Amino acid sequence: MRLDGIHHITAITADGSANVEFYARVLGLRLVKVTVNQDDPTAYHLFYADEQGSHGADLTFFEYPESPRGRAGAGMVHRIVHRVSSAAALDFWEQRLGREGVAIERDSRALRFADPEGLDHALVAVERTDAPLIARASEVPAEHALQGFEAVHVFVADRGPSEKLVRDALGFQEIVSHEWEARGEHRGGRVVFEPARSNGVAGAGTVHHVAWATTHEDQLPWREQVRAAGARPTSVIDRFYFRSVYFREPGGILYELATIGPGFAVDEPAEHLGERLSLPPDYEHLRPRLEGILRPLPDARQWRPTPSPASAAQ
Ligand code: ZN
Repeated sequence: MRLDGIHHITAITADGSANVEFYARVLGLRLVKVTVNQDDPTAYHLFYADEQGSHGADLTFFEYPESPRGRAGAGMVHRIVHRVSSAAALDFWEQRLGREGVAIERDSRALRFADPEGLDHALVAVERTDAPLIARASEVPAEHALQGFEAVHVFVADRGPSEKLVRDALGFQEIVSHEWEARGEHRGGRVVFEPARSNGVAGAGTVHHVAWATTHEDQLPWREQVRAAGARPTSVIDRFYFRSVYFREPGGILYELATIGPGFAVDEPAEHLGERLSLPPDYEHLRPRLEGILRPLPDARQWRPTPSPASAAQ
C-alpha cells in the first residue's frame, strides 16, 4: 500500500478574479473546475490543474472575499514546489515572471516567487520518471510548462512527531534529512519539514490543506492506520470529484487522503472543464441564488490556444 504522491493542495484567496488571472494566464494552468465550497456554497472553490485535471497537478482555492491576508507559520504548508523540465524552463519563467512584475529569487536549481497574495511557490528542474502533467496555455510553450507538484514545504514546531507519522502511518521514506517522499504506482510527491519560527495566521495567500493520493481500495486501510497512530480522521466524505478523509497530523497541518478519481469529467465534458459553474447535485436548486452571490470571474478560455484540428480529432 503506497500513497501516490500529492493529490491536490488547497489554499485561500480573497480575490478569485486576480487568482484566475495569475494561475490561468501567468502560470498557464488549466482552470478545470469552478464550483463551490461544499461546506459553504456561497464561496467559490476553484481548481487548476494540467490538461486532464490529474492528481499531482491540482491546485485549488477557496474564495473568501472578506478574508484578510494570512501568514504561514507552525502547522501550515508555506511553499508549493512545482516541477519544470530544465534549466531553460527556469530561464523562461525568470523572464516571464519578471515581465509580469513578480519578485523572483533564482539559484542554480530553483526559482522562487509568490502569488499576488503572498503564497510562496518554487519551480525546480528535477529528473523524475513521473509523467509530466502539463496544461495547454497560449502564453506558455509546452516545453516550459509546469509539470505537477514536486513537494510542499511545511513549518512545524517539533519535527519528530510529524516525521514519525509520515513514516509509520503513511509509508513515506526519508530521501534527504527532513525531506520525505510518498511514491506510489504512478507518481511521487514530497513533504519537507522545517522548524517553525512563529505561529501562523490562516487567511488569503495561505494553504488550507494538502491531500495525498490513494486508490479507492486503500482509503479505509489508510484511515485505520492513521487512527491507530493516534490521529483522529474524519469518516469518508464524498467530494463528488474524489472521496476524502481529513485529519490533523501532530504538528497541526491538515492532511487529506483523497481518492484518485472519479475526476473532473463526472459532471461536464472533458473539453469544456471549468467553463461554467458546476454545482454538486444537492446544491443545484440553489443555482440562481448562488450565481447572484458569487462574483463573476474572467473567462479563462481567452488564455488557451484554440484546439488544433489534430487534437480536436482525438
Ligand atoms: Zn482537499
